[in-house]
Amino acid sequence: MNFFTRSGAPEATKTITVDGTTLPVKMRRNARARRLIMRLNKAATEVTVTLPPGAGEADALRFAHEHAGWIAKRLTERPASVPFAPGALVPVRDERHVITHRPGARGTVWMEESEAGPPLLCVAGDEAHLARRTRDWLKREARSELRARCAYYGQTMGLTYKRVDLRDQTTRWGSCSSSGVLSFSWRLILAPVHVLDYVAAHEVAHLQEMNHGPRFWKLVEDALPTMNRSRQWLKKNGTNLHVYGAGG
Ligand SMILES: [Zn+2]
Repeated sequence: MNFFTRSGAPEATKTITVDGTTLPVKMRRNARARRLIMRLNKAATEVTVTLPPGAGEADALRFAHEHAGWIAKRLTERPASVPFAPGALVPVRDERHVITHRPGARGTVWMEESEAGPPLLCVAGDEAHLARRTRDWLKREARSELRARCAYYGQTMGLTYKRVDLRDQTTRWGSCSSSGVLSFSWRLILAPVHVLDYVAAHEVAHLQEMNHGPRFWKLVEDALPTMNRSRQWLKKNGTNLHVYGAGG
């Protein structure tokens, strides 16, 4: 059981399609709600409908469809996705790199300085596998960065964990299970390294404090006094990290 999965957390059971984009519709029951309330998350990737007593799934879906125009407007406002393709600009540790296809080269993916302009992220092999190779490489980089940082903060705080997992979690940057498994989004490799430090320290601290109380924050801050800078960075820029490699 994952301690941070709140009981009663909504499951994505239904979907709504607006202008060709399909979004999951999550339903949340609230005994104190007086009416149906619909929300779209910041990244405009999922709809949540709050149900007052007496309302059912069908009401929620009808309500979402009634407000399809509003959803459509929000969809047009969301940042355009950046697929992993030749020429795409993708941040690695917050530095923009140009994805460059090197079909004949050996090896898989590597970084290279360019004579003018941003550095290159070179991807060898068949172009059909370029997106997957890029993503796999970013995941490996994220894993090694986060493993090293968790080891460091584990030692600093005197805490041990079972292992470090990488995932494509859309709602959280990291999580800590009661069995001591630390999980992270691979997209953190796109962020500045101080953010990797912060998220690692945050999840390691949960091994001792399974909450966000004052003792938890003191534990993180003692290990990483500059944590607020990283929290603010994530608040401001976190959503934008989801535009990269969408569908890839
Ligand atoms: Zn937390």
